[in-house]
Amino acid sequence: MDDGIKKIAILGSTGSVGRQVLEIIRVLSNRFQVIGLAGGENLRLLEKQIREFKPVMFYCSIEPDFTCKGEFVSMEQIANHPEADIVVIATSGKAGLGPALAALRAGKTVALANKELLVMAGEIVTMEAKRHQAQILPIDSEHSAIWQCLRGEESKPQRILLTASGGPFYRYSQLQLGEVTTEQALSHPTWEMGRKITIDSATLMNKGLEVIEAHWLFDIPFESIEILIHPQSIVHSMVEFVDGSVKAQLSFPDMRLPIQYALCYPERLPNSELPRLNLSKIQYLNFEAVDLSRFPCLRLALHAGRRGGTYPAVLCAADEVAVGFFLSHQIGFLDIASLVEDALEKHQGITKPTLDEIRQADVWAREYVKHLCVRRPHFIPLPSRERLGEGD
Ligand code: MG
Repeated sequence: MDDGIKKIAILGSTGSVGRQVLEIIRVLSNRFQVIGLAGGENLRLLEKQIREFKPVMFYCSIEPDFTCKGEFVSMEQIANHPEADIVVIATSGKAGLGPALAALRAGKTVALANKELLVMAGEIVTMEAKRHQAQILPIDSEHSAIWQCLRGEESKPQRILLTASGGPFYRYSQLQLGEVTTEQALSHPTWEMGRKITIDSATLMNKGLEVIEAHWLFDIPFESIEILIHPQSIVHSMVEFVDGSVKAQLSFPDMRLPIQYALCYPERLPNSELPRLNLSKIQYLNFEAVDLSRFPCLRLALHAGRRGGTYPAVLCAADEVAVGFFLSHQIGFLDIASLVEDALEKHQGITKPTLDEIRQADVWAREYVKHLCVRRPHFIPLPSRERLGEGD
């Protein structure tokens, strides 16, 4: 980084966050150089990205059908490459865990968009970061807000106020929630995101995962993290100090801002592509306490977080499989929570688990939920016309 140009490796470059990371780099091209890209199975998009950004190495989860100058390597090799200054982990699920640990062990700065890694293995991931003096910079908007509020403060916060839009169904009755279709759940009122996280936002599971993420990132006890429903998604979170002072970070809801903040840290750079906030147009900012009784996924996540050990890994894995079934119209919206709850109840937790024990808990939970869906057909209602998107 001698010439002031940061060398960036992006794992998960073809996903929603990965594409937005590249948008920022495209605009601030005189400050960043992409040295590694890793995508999943979207070879056409990965090939396009490789042609444009010319990384020295790349990875994809299926055999590439194109030729390019870059070398095909593993995600771990991209993550701990001696040239990389910042490794962006924007993979989904557990795929990023090994590479994230490889990057931290090599002392890299990790810009983390994948909250599941901290939920599954928060203790191990933060310990490795400490041991190798590697920094973890959050890309999640709430955590970026908390980080921005904490910068320059000597004392620890007394309380974190994590905001949540509430998702599209916050005012729905249980009856209405039972009827929610995949298509309805996929249209989020304020944020543009990937499919899995959009469903997690609708069930509020995402907010539960974010509480666990905040607990590990900022070393804050669970009882000091409060969730506030804030439908406008303008205040991205707040921090309260011992003297009663509350700091908030506000901006238009656009993931590119927390991405740019992490990439440019400790600087702030102008970017005319980022939308500006016009508070006189917004007029109202509303806040209210969250109603846990109506959103069982959030309650389950908070409980799993407090129990710790392998429970958060089971939570993540069970949720991922259940959301997959919901996305393919095989179960209803409320079944997601039932399946996750069932897996958590059946699981025999291990305290202070090793990485292997966490991985085993993950595999167990996936198999368990799949098994439940296959063996208990009442979980799989016949697809209604509406569920198949053929209604109206
Ligand atoms: Mg978030």
